[in-house]
Amino acid sequence: MDRTLPEVITDILTHNNGIVEHKEDGNLEVLTPSDVSNALGIPELARLRFSYDETADEAIYASYDSDFFNSMAKLVDNKGKLSVARYDNSSLPNVTKLSKTISEKVMFNNATFRLDKTEEKNVSYLLCYFKYIALSDERQEGVMSILINEQNLSTASFKYDITELNEATEELQDIERCEIKKVFQSAYSACTCMVKEKLKDFINSLERRLNRDVRRVYEYYETLKNETKRTIKKKVLTGESNNMKTPKKTEQSLVEWENLIEKQIEERTVSGNGTDKLLNKLDAIEAEREWKVKDLIAKYALNIRIEPVSAIRIETQSILSWINIKRRLSSRLFPVCFNPITRQIDALPCESCFSPQKSYYVCDDKLHIICADCFAGCNNCKKQYCKACYDMCPKCRKKMG
Ligand SMILES: [Zn+2]
Ligand SMILES: [Zn+2]
Ligand SMILES: [Zn+2]
Repeated sequence: MDRTLPEVITDILTHNNGIVEHKEDGNLEVLTPSDVSNALGIPELARLRFSYDETADEAIYASYDSDFFNSMAKLVDNKGKLSVARYDNSSLPNVTKLSKTISEKVMFNNATFRLDKTEEKNVSYLLCYFKYIALSDERQEGVMSILINEQNLSTASFKYDITELNEATEELQDIERCEIKKVFQSAYSACTCMVKEKLKDFINSLERRLNRDVRRVYEYYETLKNETKRTIKKKVLTGESNNMKTPKKTEQSLVEWENLIEKQIEERTVSGNGTDKLLNKLDAIEAEREWKVKDLIAKYALNIRIEPVSAIRIETQSILSWINIKRRLSSRLFPVCFNPITRQIDALPCESCFSPQKSYYVCDDKLHIICADCFAGCNNCKKQYCKACYDMCPKCRKKMG
């Protein structure tokens, strides 16, 4: 389970020096410093509610579609400030044990590695909160919290309680903010993948309903077309003005004759005895069918919007284990990190989509770590290439990648 909206709001406000109390009715009572309450447009002491209740007292509506929730992004944007927290109270694991786990857990499909040096170091994570809205014939929304390791950009969806984090008051320097931008973009990319994964059932159901409705439309118009074609055949059969001889009904060539008329209808060359009008009707039926299909595609089209809400930088101390990745004649050092908050080794990142995956490849040129999707063949020429190295296919870049 992801963290609930009240939990996420508690995380963010607490790390912006606010005090939050959970009430029995599900509301939150929050006390925030004046700069924070000004940015959010709420009194310093306020009650937040999450259900849409007409009879509610002075509590401020704070769900996904509220002004309050939207203004949370100002906590990061406006003041250019990022809340920083420290996480100290955790013991680090035994290095020998850790090395053993790494050699068991880390794996590449097309490369080998060996453990290089191990060091105890100050490391930092960025805990990013994103809001997503998926719009189609239905609306789905929620928040996603992503914890990203700033050293190696490894990402994970975050489900932990962070009340143990200690406050740290220092603000980030400008140089660090530049680095943070790349970290944040990587987290955003990972979030996009994770939201799609989370909404998999919803997306599948959309596709199923679209296919079903398109099939129905086709069947309906196919019936209309067949009826019209039958009328045309009847007209040709009873009329005299067709440019071909009408066969006697007993003749074996009746089937052949039908096929010929069918062909003439498709080519719109059949004529006489009022068939022109019927051909126009056929055109109209086909045009309407295309229209209806386009309508359906628009109705079920999925639009996913992801917006940053807030971020907290978590500084801590941990162990970096450097692995030396070997691919053909090249090698590359890459840090694998023990995560003191989740108490696991951070999964390797895909250095293209940044979403954690099960299986990884290593690219030839720069030895990027990439997932199977980001190392897939080009749609056009089938050449396999690394999406972290190239934005488009290096072989046929003039065409579509
Ligand atoms: Zn990837
Ligand atoms: Zn190509
Ligand atoms: Zn690459």
